[in-house]
Amino acid sequence: MGNGQKAQMKRERNAQKAAGKGGNSQLKVNAAAKNIICKKCFQTFLCTSREKALTEHAENKHGMSMKDCFPDYVPPP
Ligand SMILES: [Zn+2]
Repeated sequence: MGNGQKAQMKRERNAQKAAGKGGNSQLKVNAAAKNIICKKCFQTFLCTSREKALTEHAENKHGMSMKDCFPDYVPPP
């Protein structure tokens, strides 16, 4: 837990800022590679997020299944 984590958080904040502005499509592609994005509300989640957290988001926020909000999610091996 050190500078690496801080830098990671900064990168995510920047990615979110760019996404909020509608930004540049390349930035969006880069952000998508790093994060899991809800297809319904475009909230971003760390790519290390657990399936449980995504399921909770989908059910609590949208009343949908995790697969509806995160169809591209592939569980880590
Ligand atoms: Zn959502």
